[in-house]
Amino acid sequence: MSERPRARDLPPPPADCPRPQRCPHCGEPMVRMVIPELASFDSPWIYVCFNDDCGYFRRSGEWMQRQYASSAQYRHKLDPFTGETGPLPVWSADAMRNLIVEEDGE
Ligand SMILES: [Zn+2]
Repeated sequence: MSERPRARDLPPPPADCPRPQRCPHCGEPMVRMVIPELASFDSPWIYVCFNDDCGYFRRSGEWMQRQYASSAQYRHKLDPFTGETGPLPVWSADAMRNLIVEEDGE
């Protein structure tokens, strides 16, 4: 039993948004993630690179550790509804994986 959000319950990507979206840092396909309740996004979901080997993710972890002795890290995100890209802060490598959308046919 999965409690992840289902693709059919969510609005589709904008028509002009190509799929799959690939992370510009590691080239892996990004996955859809619903927005955590506390975050102030207007969009229903965003694309996020959940590749733990992504160079961006790894470098952000090393940087946070050095600067702040923090285990927080950043993942690359893309909001297809606004076109905005940027860092998504996560408090651990496992954080927010329960928000990854289960695509139909998976
Ligand atoms: Zn990546």
